[in-house]
Amino acid sequence: VRVYVPRDSAALSVGADEVAAALAREADRPVTVVRNGSRGMLWLEPFVEVETDRGRIGYGPVTTDRVGELVAAGMLDGADHELCQGVVEELPWLRDQQRVCFARVGVTDPLSTEDYVRHGGLTGLRAALDRDPDEVVAEVTESGLRGRGGAGFPAGIKWKTVAQTPGELKFVCCNADEGDSGTFADRMLIEGDPFCLIEGMAIAAYAVGAREGYIYLRSEYPDAIATLRRAIDLAREAGWLGENILGSGLSFDLFVRVGAGAYICGEETSMLESLEGKRGMVRPKPPIPAITGLFGKPTIINNVLTLASVPAILADGAAAYQGLGVGRSRGTQVFQLAGNIARGGVFETAFGITLGELVNDYGGGTRSGRPVRATQVGGPLGAYLPVSQFELPMDYEAFTEAGAMLGHGGIVVFDDTVDMAAMARFAMEFCAEESCGKCTPCRVGSVRGVEVIDRIVAGQDAEGNLALLNDLCELMTDGSLCAMGGLTPNPVRSALLHFPEDFTAKEGS
Ligand code: SF4
Repeated sequence: VRVYVPRDSAALSVGADEVAAALAREADRPVTVVRNGSRGMLWLEPFVEVETDRGRIGYGPVTTDRVGELVAAGMLDGADHELCQGVVEELPWLRDQQRVCFARVGVTDPLSTEDYVRHGGLTGLRAALDRDPDEVVAEVTESGLRGRGGAGFPAGIKWKTVAQTPGELKFVCCNADEGDSGTFADRMLIEGDPFCLIEGMAIAAYAVGAREGYIYLRSEYPDAIATLRRAIDLAREAGWLGENILGSGLSFDLFVRVGAGAYICGEETSMLESLEGKRGMVRPKPPIPAITGLFGKPTIINNVLTLASVPAILADGAAAYQGLGVGRSRGTQVFQLAGNIARGGVFETAFGITLGELVNDYGGGTRSGRPVRATQVGGPLGAYLPVSQFELPMDYEAFTEAGAMLGHGGIVVFDDTVDMAAMARFAMEFCAEESCGKCTPCRVGSVRGVEVIDRIVAGQDAEGNLALLNDLCELMTDGSLCAMGGLTPNPVRSALLHFPEDFTAKEGS
């Protein structure tokens, strides 16, 4: 019997290793325990799947002390039990998704090259190698794929710039410094289907003429680092990296570099500085990295999910990807539901689904059972949105119009006990903590921002200090060198706009 127990960090943190060991020990017949990625239903982890004639049957959350009972109840035959969730592929959470990046995550053994190929892996790379590089760039452009790291810049345009910039040495860099609060999709993809990212980067390299790639991965992700390093070794052994890839003449190799925990290194130019061995400080633009990037050479910098979308685009054609989504937001986004939410996890679907559908229908509202009061979308620099905005479609332009941003697709939910003035203060505090210090509006403005909010909630000249806070936000937006200082006013202003009642003198202050 084949049994699947995730090796994903989220599953490991709730005892997946121990559950896998208990299953091997207590099974009443020989079992093959496959360590897959997580399906993304994190409230069910450790989520154990048993292969049966009806398909895979899921059980969760499974704890070690219940393994014996589950085995006795006939779990290995897919028998019913109070922890049995039914046929995995038919669970509404999975059935309603449109998985492109995450198509194989949870399905395959992430470190099996055979499994990867058996489930459609390498189809995109082979399709790319059969065409001219400029046709590959055109395909990515036509797909409408935009950068999933947050900025939403069209990937094809970036690739075209690198391809057309002359140079013997070019690089492909993957930004996996997933530092936004409430985001974990990059990690889950790397731990659940690392070959997909490797394939996407090889396609990018072929398209622009790069021979080397770097994945900048945060030190807070030790499991992802280990999985990716192992996957790269296996890909080299299989001839998917190195010289003459798949006999095509393409030479491309990949290296992992581990960051040291600075949020600003998720900003692309700081990431380049860090990759070059320097302190992570923002570089002014121009020059843009596509022309003068890593070590001064033309460089593609894309997020994990951007690059992981590429194999499917090449395999199925730009039209299939372009056919998903709304307006100028084409394809799918991997939404991450976090914070005070009943059912947290990843949910990949086409752009256009509403915020309310994600939070209430799939997320099940708050974990505390209290009413939802606010959500923060797009990381710590994203706006706070009240429930009255739940009809907002997940679409880059709709969010911009609402004074918000989609960012990397993270959604953090808060119930009605949240203090929004405290959250606004936290935004300024976070900026003060993480500022690289290069420009004054961010370095000094964020510290002043904390002080002004403290004075407002202490009831000191509220009117004057609110005006000052608005002035400060305007200055930071207009005068900061990068998005860190430039976007910090987003959470502050949205909290002021939607929850003004929280910015009054607190009792006892
Ligand atoms: Fe550095 Fe902040 Fe200025 Fe960005 S806005 S360059 S993080 S000081």
